[in-house]
Amino acid sequence: MKVITIQISVPDGVEVRVNGGGQAAAGPQRPFVAQPDPAYPGGVCPEHGEEWNLVPAGLSKTKVNQDGSPKRYNAFWTCPSYGCSQKPPKPGVVEDVTGFSEADGMPF
Ligand SMILES: [Zn+2]
Repeated sequence: MKVITIQISVPDGVEVRVNGGGQAAAGPQRPFVAQPDPAYPGGVCPEHGEEWNLVPAGLSKTKVNQDGSPKRYNAFWTCPSYGCSQKPPKPGVVEDVTGFSEADGMPF
């Protein structure tokens, strides 16, 4: 394997762009794939004890695609408390098939 050392000196206030600057630094964007609404994941926010709230699929108000159109997102569950970043565990990890309620205590 060849090793190439590149030295770049950047003066203050200069933005560095690689590959012509056409691509954002974040790299290639994955194409949006629409998913059906996820099932209720069960449980509550570990921070607030609130049941998860389903945010319906829609268009982002803050993020845009490279062509300037708003980014789409799929429905997801989140804590209803404003500003809370807690998210339920991924579906499939926690699965309530017994109808067991957490309020009754752990079954084991
Ligand atoms: Zn929360």
